[in-house]
Amino acid sequence: MSPFTRSSCVSGAPHIFSLPEIDRPAEALPYLKMLAEEDIRESTQIGARPWIRNPSLYLRYAEALALSGSTDAEAKLMLEHAIEGLMQSDARSTLEIILLRIHLAHVHRCQNIQTTKAKEYADFANSFIHDLMACRNEHYVIQFLRKNPDFIPHERLKQALIRPGQPERHILKALGGSAWFDKAVKQTFKMHARAEKMCFTCGGREPQKTLSLCGGCQHHWYCSKPCQVTDWKTHRIFCGGISNERKALEVFRISDPDRFQRKTDWMKWRVGPLGANPDAPIHAPGLQRDHSRGRTHIIIFFAKHTPHASRDMTHKFQIESAGVFRTSDIMHEFESMMDWAPGEGKMRIARILSSADAVWYGNEPQFPAMYILLCTGVTPWFCASIVPVSALLRTPYDPNWRLTMNKDEPVAERELDLQFVRAFQRTSFPNINDVSA
Ligand SMILES: [Zn+2]
Ligand SMILES: [Zn+2]
Repeated sequence: MSPFTRSSCVSGAPHIFSLPEIDRPAEALPYLKMLAEEDIRESTQIGARPWIRNPSLYLRYAEALALSGSTDAEAKLMLEHAIEGLMQSDARSTLEIILLRIHLAHVHRCQNIQTTKAKEYADFANSFIHDLMACRNEHYVIQFLRKNPDFIPHERLKQALIRPGQPERHILKALGGSAWFDKAVKQTFKMHARAEKMCFTCGGREPQKTLSLCGGCQHHWYCSKPCQVTDWKTHRIFCGGISNERKALEVFRISDPDRFQRKTDWMKWRVGPLGANPDAPIHAPGLQRDHSRGRTHIIIFFAKHTPHASRDMTHKFQIESAGVFRTSDIMHEFESMMDWAPGEGKMRIARILSSADAVWYGNEPQFPAMYILLCTGVTPWFCASIVPVSALLRTPYDPNWRLTMNKDEPVAERELDLQFVRAFQRTSFPNINDVSA
C-alpha cells in the first residue's frame, strides 16, 4: 500500500523528501506529479491558472524535479510556472524564487538554451519573464549570490548546487567551485542593508515588489501605500524622532564639522551590523541556552568613534566594552540614560518587543534581543535585533564573542558593569540630549 494517503500528500508530506537533511527528492516525485496533474485538471475546469492558484504545489514539484536531476521540457516548464506563480502570489518567497532560478539556469545549460528566444515566451505577458531568459537568468543569479552570499541558508544552496552523480552546476563553477562556501564571508555594511531591505509590513522583497524608503526616517522600506499606512500607527513616533534628529544635526554641519561627522556616522552605523561580530546580540545574552533572555535582559555596548578605521560604515565605531543586564535591575539607569520619564522604560520595552515580534523574518520562530548602543557625545540608541531560530542553531555559543567585535584590535574584552553605566550618565550626559534642543 502506498505510504501516502491523498490528505498526507496535500499536507505537504512529499516535500519532506526534498529537505536538505533528507534529500531524496526522486521518491517524492510520483506523488507530487499526481497532485499537480489533479490540480491542473481541477483548475482548468474552473478556468483558473493552476500555478497562480496553488503556487506552493508547483514550487515543490519543480524543486523535486530539479533536485532529482530532471532537465527535460517538463522540468523547465514547471520551474517557469512555479516562478511565475510565486512572483504573483507571495510577497515573501524571494528565497524560493532564487533557488528555482538557480535550477532553471542549470536546465537552460543542459538544453543548450543560450540565447534569447522571444517566441518561446510568447504566452508570458509579464515583464519578469524578460529576466528569466537563459542568458539573463544565469547572470542574474550569479550576481545575486555574489552580492548576497548569506541570503540563502548554505545547506539549501549546497543542496541546489552540489548534486552527487549529476552534471556540475555552471553557477557553482562561476562562483569559484565548492570552496566558495568555505570562504569566510565578511559582511559589509552594504550587504547587511541589502539583506534588511524588505517591506516592513508584509516582508515583500525586490524584484517581486517595488520598495520605497520612508521619507521621514529613511530607515523603513514599504512596497505600497497600504503597507505604509498599516505600519504608521507604530512607526510614527520612531519616524518623527529620527527625522527630528536629522534636522537637528544640520546645526553642526558648519559650526562643528567633527561633531557633525560623528553624529552622521552614528545615525548610519547604529542600524547596521554590530561591528565585525554581528552575532554579538546572540552570544551576549546566551540566547542559545535560553531564547527568552532577549526579553528580560538588555545588552549595553559602549562604542568609540573611529572615523578613519575603514571605508566600510561597519567600522566607523568600535565596541569598547559590553555588558548584559537584567532590565529590571537597571531600569532607573536605562530611563535616565535615554532621557525618559520614570515608568517610561517599561512601556518602551514592551513596545519594542511587540514591534520586534511583528516583523516578518522568515517562516520560522524568531526571538528578539534588546540592546543599547552608547557613545560619548551622541544620542544613545535602543533597539532590538530579531534572531530567527535557524540563526540560533547555526551559531553555537562563542564565549569569546567580545574578542571578535572589532576589525583589528580585540578591545571589547572589558566587561561593562553597572558602575560604568552610572558613571557614563554623569560624565557624558550633557551631549546626549542636544538633538532635541
Ligand atoms: Zn508591503
Ligand atoms: Zn519612517
